[in-house]
Amino acid sequence: MKYFSTRGAGPVSLDEALRKGIASDGGLFLPEQLPTFAVADFDAADSILEVAAVLLKPFFAGSSLQGDVEGILDETFSFPIPATALPADDQNVSMLELYHGPTAAFKDIGAGFLAACLSRLEGDVAKPLTILVATSGDTGGAVAAAFDGRPGMRVAVLFPEGRVSERQEHQLCCWSDNVLSLKVRGAFDDCQSMVKAAMADQDLSSAHRFSSANSINIGRLLPQSTYYADASLRHFRRTGNKPGFIIPTGNLGNAFACVMAREMGLPIGPIILATNANRTILDYFDSLEWLPRTSLQTLASAMDVGDPSNMERLRKLIGEADVLRDQLGVASVSDDEIRAAIRQDFIEFGFATCPHTATATHTWRQLEPGLARQHDWILVATAHPAKFETIVEPLIGEQVPLPQELEEILSRPAHSVLIEPNLASLAASLEDVG
Ligand SMILES: *Cc1c(COP(=O)(O)O)cnc(C)c1O
Repeated sequence: MKYFSTRGAGPVSLDEALRKGIASDGGLFLPEQLPTFAVADFDAADSILEVAAVLLKPFFAGSSLQGDVEGILDETFSFPIPATALPADDQNVSMLELYHGPTAAFKDIGAGFLAACLSRLEGDVAKPLTILVATSGDTGGAVAAAFDGRPGMRVAVLFPEGRVSERQEHQLCCWSDNVLSLKVRGAFDDCQSMVKAAMADQDLSSAHRFSSANSINIGRLLPQSTYYADASLRHFRRTGNKPGFIIPTGNLGNAFACVMAREMGLPIGPIILATNANRTILDYFDSLEWLPRTSLQTLASAMDVGDPSNMERLRKLIGEADVLRDQLGVASVSDDEIRAAIRQDFIEFGFATCPHTATATHTWRQLEPGLARQHDWILVATAHPAKFETIVEPLIGEQVPLPQELEEILSRPAHSVLIEPNLASLAASLEDVG
């Protein structure tokens, strides 16, 4: 399998696409051609691991990782990803729970797969690869957890002092010696500039073998198609219906993986993108003009994206807005609607949803009645509500029980190093990574 940039550069191998993250012409990597499947191709695949093996093997053709696919998938899909039926009158609706990984959010799956691949490609105990991540919250924890304790790999996580919640901070700071947690006296933008400056510095770069685990890396996307394949196959075998998916969407990585799965022939019905008040995608479908903008802060903060990177992949794979809007639905959900949905979910379902997941439950309740009845629906839950307890608990009037995975993380000792927002401080602290 060969990979090309959305802007034309290539071809490169999977190994090179994983190593580079972004193409030399600034574009994003996509496979030359998606493999296609019939439902029967998965007849022998009972578990999500077996589905992953059928679905993802073609992407490894010609890669030096080809012989390691099983091990990579074992490490990636090491926790359950169930679709749980929801109580709903006359409707078949379920929730796809993507939050049973080590940091209780769906990014654990992409980060886990990328870490499993990169450590096999680049792990070197004598001269470790150093992954630099700037984070405003969720991504850093998932990346740290994925690379935690991997020989020949190190991670430096940079986060802004006082700008992440207590629980989030703990998740960035409770890992083994190969993860360096750096609390920066500055804002998220400072963290990001420091990472860029470090990558651009020749001496530092070669001394530490810098790499990134950026969300645009193809290694973060590919494994995500697996849970859409698995959930749709299970549903289709049981009911004969192709379920529709409603997906909380920010940078469009998770939803793009669902589109890929449908393109590959999986039994998937309508796909609806649930965004927060950041309306870039909705406005593009309305006006046919792509107008990225600066992001607005919302309660669903991990979706605060005004210029979703993966739109470039979607336009390359499917087409421009006039084509896209026939194939995808999109909704924009305000903070007030998110609050109302969290309350309503608690009353109707008996459990709370996180602010991101609430954009999907709200969108489902607002579906035009004909469309709602015409399909079965799977609402995608991207994080556990206990990660956002300061938002959720006041709305439902009680505590959200901690899931086991978060309890485990929060019970570990945490440690971080406070640094100034400049390259010299980052360089000095990197000398200490174990
Ligand atoms: C990252 C994230 C999203 C958005 O996913 P994209 O792939 O960026 O669209 C939604 N919910 C949660 C909890 C996230 O962490």
